[in-house]
Amino acid sequence: MKRLQKAVGRIFGGVLLLLFAGVARAAASEEIVLTGRAMGTTYRVRALADSATMTADGLQRETDALLERLTQQMSTYRADSELSRFNRQRETNWFAVSREFAVVVEEAQRISRLTGGAFDVTVDPLVRLWGFGPERRTAVVPSDEAIAKARRRVDYRRLDARLDPPALRKLNPELSVDLSAIAKGYAVDAVAALLVKSGAGHYLVEIGGELAARGHSALSHPWRVGIERPLDTGREIERVVELKDRALATSGDYRNFFSAAGRRYAHIIDPRTGRPAAHNLTSVSVAHDSCMTADALATGLTVLGPDAGFELAVQNNFACLFILRGEGAFTEKRTSAFAELLPR
Ligand code: AMP
Ligand code: MG
Repeated sequence: MKRLQKAVGRIFGGVLLLLFAGVARAAASEEIVLTGRAMGTTYRVRALADSATMTADGLQRETDALLERLTQQMSTYRADSELSRFNRQRETNWFAVSREFAVVVEEAQRISRLTGGAFDVTVDPLVRLWGFGPERRTAVVPSDEAIAKARRRVDYRRLDARLDPPALRKLNPELSVDLSAIAKGYAVDAVAALLVKSGAGHYLVEIGGELAARGHSALSHPWRVGIERPLDTGREIERVVELKDRALATSGDYRNFFSAAGRRYAHIIDPRTGRPAAHNLTSVSVAHDSCMTADALATGLTVLGPDAGFELAVQNNFACLFILRGEGAFTEKRTSAFAELLPR
């Protein structure tokens, strides 16, 4: 039997979702598909129900409500989000926040320590200075003076998070936080948890290119996704992977960047220099049980670069695919733990 009649790709951030359509064996009613917008991007969920009580309408409403709540907590793009209010205030006392917000900052701090500050959610002033924040794109290289000034406001060690009760504290009142490199991953985990609670034994959740999968697809196949080839224009698959009860996050320098004087300046900033990470590492994908962790690691390893980043991934046995830009071609570096994702 010809199992797959048509394969179409959908693209986000660093992944192409392979949507296998037109398969006779997959009864359409078995699979619930949810789509929408959240966290400044789009999301898509495919779920198979274990219980008859799960309805597409009900799940869609709950998913939208959950993602709206998280966006209202952690968005830099909303002036009235919890995060924007925390950023605006100049106190050094504990500032009460939602539990989810504090959980994300705690994990961010752990990844900052692990990466020696390459990952740093207090990088916000530099992100804005380089024109990658919520304000309009500038596409201008800032002066050394402006970079030095913004850098004085960046240091994850000057930010405290606690859970009981959930609160954040600035030790430097000038600090501000940007969770763009980790919040989408957290949201993926949260939607996955909602699905489990609702009786979905099998699902694929994707928000802006970050993914989590459990079980198998309607065809009883492992969930398959394509990691994108990091081309500036055009969309191609570099590698197809299978996700079995895992999350996958990808960071890269090939979608959000500007060029000036023949150089590429991408949206991932090295807090240690105050400048966009500059090396030939163009895409990092990380598989992990937690999408929040995978998301933060993908960004942090991108900052660390093809050597130090890869070394850290190997030391910690992280499942990673690094794609490097070479002379007219891309090359891959894979950790041995990544082998479990390669289809047999
Ligand atoms: P991602 O796509 O997950 O790699 O996140 C990239 C976004 O995270 C950027 O657009 C910035 O808003 C923010 N960001 C940039 N550099 C860093 C960094 N070194 N640590 C944490 N977040 C960063
Ligand atoms: Mg990230």
